[in-house]
Amino acid sequence: MAMLDALIDGLGPAVSTDPADLEAARTDRSGWTTPERPLAVVRARSTADVQAVLRLATAHRTPVVPRGSGTGLAGGAVASEGSVVLDLSGMDRVLAVDVDDETAVVEPGVITDALAEHLRPLGLWWPPDPASRAISSVGGNIATNAGGLLCAKYGVTRQSVLALAVVLADGGLVRLGGATVKDVTGYDLTGLMIGSEGTLGVVVEATLRLRRLDPHPPVTLAATFDSVVQAAAAAAAITATGLRPAALEIMDAASCAAVDALVAAGEGPEGDLPSLAGRGAFLLVRTDGAGAEAEAATAVRLIEAEGGNVSRAPDERAGEALLALRRSAHAAFARLGEVLIEDVAVPRSALPQMFAAIEGIAARHGLPIPTIAHAGDGNLHPNVVIPASMPHAPGEIPEAVWAVGDEVFRAALALGGALTGEHGVGVLKRRWLADAVGEDVLALSRRVKAAFDPLGVLNPGKAI
Ligand SMILES: Cc1cc2nc3c(=O)[nH]c(=O)nc-3n(C[C@H](O)[C@H](O)[C@H](O)COP(=O)(O)OP(=O)(O)OC[C@H]3O[C@@H](n4cnc5c(N)ncnc54)[C@H](O)[C@@H]3O)c2cc1C
Repeated sequence: MAMLDALIDGLGPAVSTDPADLEAARTDRSGWTTPERPLAVVRARSTADVQAVLRLATAHRTPVVPRGSGTGLAGGAVASEGSVVLDLSGMDRVLAVDVDDETAVVEPGVITDALAEHLRPLGLWWPPDPASRAISSVGGNIATNAGGLLCAKYGVTRQSVLALAVVLADGGLVRLGGATVKDVTGYDLTGLMIGSEGTLGVVVEATLRLRRLDPHPPVTLAATFDSVVQAAAAAAAITATGLRPAALEIMDAASCAAVDALVAAGEGPEGDLPSLAGRGAFLLVRTDGAGAEAEAATAVRLIEAEGGNVSRAPDERAGEALLALRRSAHAAFARLGEVLIEDVAVPRSALPQMFAAIEGIAARHGLPIPTIAHAGDGNLHPNVVIPASMPHAPGEIPEAVWAVGDEVFRAALALGGALTGEHGVGVLKRRWLADAVGEDVLALSRRVKAAFDPLGVLNPGKAI
């Protein structure tokens, strides 16, 4: 209780012990709920608030769990026993935008889409575009090194951050990186912080690297195939020619059916959309920039060579509707029941083999695994649908589903792939981490963690 008293003493109304707040902090969007209970939730309004929490946490040896919007899919922002959940969503201001230098300085809680709205009238945009962009925070994007539809061409979050202000475990504030495009001074601690899932420090301010909005209209293609392996082969052929589409997305047959049902129920995006009923796979290609037309023409040729039936969106609005169709996949899966949204990456050339492996795993286990992929960077999301008939406590992921996950992860690793392409390790993937990176690298990571956080107060039990 000494910690709670000290928190209330120091931070007053920012501290909540409301059972509803404590309950909400026990889960994220992964569908998993921890049995552990936090001590309090603190809604930080300033860097000084964050520093005060970390100073007290160090003094009282209390774990602190940073939390942005709580849209994570790996349990990273989920409370641990007796922890203080540090809610950063109220620190949501865009502090400055420099149009000439193409930079923005923001607080961590700003919603990804809200930042886009702020930048659009200035002719600028920030590339990270997770499908959760309407609900995720920029701080969460940074802490998970988020990706999205456009990162095959424009990079993941790490490529779009120049500098960070970070509160360390002892409450100290450090500024990492700078406002210049080039800066090789010292170790790249900014890069280390990005993707560290709240285990090394709390991001309280970020200087973001922006881009100009492109004056050329993009070209968007929609193709259907008899099988997902054909669609994956077309995507692999597109990237193998050196084309860099802004987006290259695949949905398999089960995903097409789910999205089609969503649209038919009037809950999907609107517009002139292709029917996905009975399709073996859907491939979306967007090309942009000065070479958009020529790149699209090459993509059409390669799609047709793999047996695809391709059409071109007649205008930008129709192109946006196609992107919205792809982004609606998560909502479509949610209608099927409880879903474990998985995330692996493979070398792009191995996409057809990975899709085939997932089809085999689904058949062997008798579980539907509708799968979508950011094919441009080899990142797949197999979505394991948990049948209502499978016994499990609410918020718990049944072992039979983890057995499917285990096979999916091992198949990706066997193809030279990664355990997670963009969602992070959090709690849920820790048991596979040593297999993915090796015991030696895991031990080194733990030494890095100890250098930043010797007492282990920052998000213990997560990421490493
Ligand atoms: C429908 C849906 C679609 C999604 N699509 C994508 C996608 O396309 N690409 C993708 O990458 N992800 C996707 N996600 C996952 C998730 O939205 C991202 O990981 C997002 O970046 C998390 O942001 P958040 O603000 O919700 O972070 P949270 O969930 O609150 O936290 C995530 C992690 O970051 C840490 N953290 C948060 N803020 C800070 C901070 N300021 N300082 C230090 N650590 C911090 C937390 O401790 C935790 O470890 C999706 C999720 C959903 C529900």
